[in-house]
Amino acid sequence: MTHDVSFLDDLGLEGDHSTDDAYRDGHAGDWGTDDEQRVRPDAVVWPASTADVSAVLAAATERGVPVTPFAAASGLEGAATPVDAGISLDLTRMNDVLAVREGEFQIDVQPGVIGTAVDDAVGQYGLFFPPLPSSGALSTIGGMIATDASGMQTVKYGEVADWVLELEAVLADGSVITAGSKAAKTSSGYNLKDLLVGSEGTLGVVTRATLELAGIPEQIRGGRAIFPTLGDAADAVYDAVRSGVDVAKIELIDEISAAMANDYTGTDLPDRPMVFVEFHADHDVETEIEFCRTIFEAHDVAEFEMAATEAEMESVWEARRDLAYASREWDEDLEPMQSGDVTVPIGSYPDLVRYAKDLGEEHDLIVPTFGHAGDGNVHYTALVDPDDEAMVERGREVYRQIVEYAIELGGTATGEHGVGLGKRKYLELEHGEATVETMRRIKRALDPEGTLNPGKIFPETIDGERVAGE
Ligand SMILES: Cc1cc2nc3c(=O)[nH]c(=O)nc-3n(C[C@H](O)[C@H](O)[C@H](O)COP(=O)(O)OP(=O)(O)OC[C@H]3O[C@@H](n4cnc5c(N)ncnc54)[C@H](O)[C@@H]3O)c2cc1C
Repeated sequence: MTHDVSFLDDLGLEGDHSTDDAYRDGHAGDWGTDDEQRVRPDAVVWPASTADVSAVLAAATERGVPVTPFAAASGLEGAATPVDAGISLDLTRMNDVLAVREGEFQIDVQPGVIGTAVDDAVGQYGLFFPPLPSSGALSTIGGMIATDASGMQTVKYGEVADWVLELEAVLADGSVITAGSKAAKTSSGYNLKDLLVGSEGTLGVVTRATLELAGIPEQIRGGRAIFPTLGDAADAVYDAVRSGVDVAKIELIDEISAAMANDYTGTDLPDRPMVFVEFHADHDVETEIEFCRTIFEAHDVAEFEMAATEAEMESVWEARRDLAYASREWDEDLEPMQSGDVTVPIGSYPDLVRYAKDLGEEHDLIVPTFGHAGDGNVHYTALVDPDDEAMVERGREVYRQIVEYAIELGGTATGEHGVGLGKRKYLELEHGEATVETMRRIKRALDPEGTLNPGKIFPETIDGERVAGE
């Protein structure tokens, strides 16, 4: 499917646009898009201002041309893939920090600002942006808002949604809205801000965000605990969280993930089930560490050591952050399949971890299992030989069964990566038909022509008609 995008020449945009093949190729998918799923847009537009975004959307909607917002393309579910071609709206050049109000603990940014650039801008005031995902050095604030990203510190500080105060967004007809407020709380009208957060570019394009910031704690201590079995480690995490240990990061790593990290990052982690932890406090951090130690000891912890230096701990976190890359490099004959991010109520977390590991063994597959344990989040992927159809099918089966079990436990198919293309089939299972129909009504009300990011989030059909991307 191609679209006439020549109207872009007449819009008088301050930013740039191009129909060059190299740019179209570079905007055909994201980190999680398989080769066969890639679709080249007809044109790429790099808006320079809200006015540019508004002009493009108004003109595209009038002409029935799809527009797919695109940022750093670090998304893992194909959400930035322009499945119906049209325009890829690349927000990465709208990347200015507009204002820092350190006294208010607030920053105003354009959507293309990279996550860690927020910390760089506010560190001098003793502030930081707590919910950054592990991909914070790659991904943009706009992309994080669109997917409601979260990360290792979410167990203490919450997800991106909890740190967005106000958004400026452009709707499909080109109108510009401001949602939310710079005040710490508001009960005024519908909460459109939280509707936009996590909507994956299907309801509006974020063009400015006011984010809340936190003070950098006086004391930061990290360490790692080794457990006899992965089940013991998961039980210990649950016990620590429900006992109210004030932990800022608590990450589970299974044996195979530790081995992969050593191979890729050059760390020297034991090939044993582990929990990495970090504590933040302004005083008495040792009290919290000892509280955690007591709980871990009740779960037969073999070793619980705090890092001697910040650099030592940083190498452990780097190994954790790089696991997505490590799994790609582990075995030249095996590739990781879709990356899972199921999340369950913390009481069901140990059960889900054991289930995922058992399924891997049952299907004779390597299934690295790790994740933001304190949130009840399990990351997993099956490593398969892409030329071995039976093995690929077993990998799909493992993925599907883990998602279905997480939903059965009262959890979600996606704690952080979003639905995109990859998880549409689970939307109704998780929410039920009536809820999904309500979501569709909202989509139709805000974007009746279906301009914005078609083919995402919703299952195959709308009103009985096939939608894009299948
Ligand atoms: C190594 C690695 C580690 C990761 N770790 C985590 C993690 O810990 N936690 C986590 O949550 N995710 C993680 N991710 C996934 C990914 O980084 C996040 O989803 C991220 O928020 C996407 O940001 P992006 O700028 O790359 O957006 P893109 O991938 O370019 O786009 C993502 C979605 O946002 C939409 N979008 C982009 N900009 C805008 C805008 N301005 N307005 C409206 N819609 C927009 C796109 O249309 C698309 O639907 C990881 C990915 C990788 C590769």
